[in-house]
Amino acid sequence: MYASSAFCRNESSTAVHGVCLATTLDDLPPRAALVEVARDFHARGWMAGTAGNLSAREDQEHFWITASGQPKGRLDELDFLLIRIKDGEVVERVRPQNKPSAETAIHRALYALFPGARACLHGHSVEACLAAERAKKGAKNLRLAPIEMIKGFDIWQQNPKVDLPLFENRLDIARLAAEISKRLRKQAPAVTALMVRAHGPTVWGASLQEAYNRFEILEFILRYQVRARR
Ligand SMILES: [Zn+2]
Repeated sequence: MYASSAFCRNESSTAVHGVCLATTLDDLPPRAALVEVARDFHARGWMAGTAGNLSAREDQEHFWITASGQPKGRLDELDFLLIRIKDGEVVERVRPQNKPSAETAIHRALYALFPGARACLHGHSVEACLAAERAKKGAKNLRLAPIEMIKGFDIWQQNPKVDLPLFENRLDIARLAAEISKRLRKQAPAVTALMVRAHGPTVWGASLQEAYNRFEILEFILRYQVRARR
């Protein structure tokens, strides 16, 4: 018999014999879902070693983010810190030695800019870097190939001209976050994503599952562009 269960996070999850069957990442509590995403991205080479950072909103004022310097293939649910969006204050940390990701300021900027963003995923990938290298020096955007997969960003046009915002890499993350915030505030991008040159993409979504899907789709498009030498 199917029955609802206290184990299930929301009504779309199904309990069978007391076991919650999560059908999407959004059926899991945020930190458990992010652990799954980290293992998946690590296995696919998008979060090698300790690179990359993942976050999900707890509520409108706070988000969970991966701790700095942890191997992304071996995270557990204690490797997250709860951050206040307004001022970056750490509100909760389970392991006292954990520090928030060095790139927390970028996540904060995106959550502040886009109240509908529920999750924000940042990886370091070879193909995204190679694709971005093809953009001219100082270019503010990388044109995405108008292949079928672009529909995953909810773009339904024939041969759309879609630009991925492109930023120069900076050691000074506060400065990079300020640049992202300033530019995207002026104009929201056509895709819920951006790319930092020689570094990696960041993708956000109205749900964690959407952010995950779109990260995969962006990687697919950039991989295509590298192979097609676009
Ligand atoms: Zn990074």
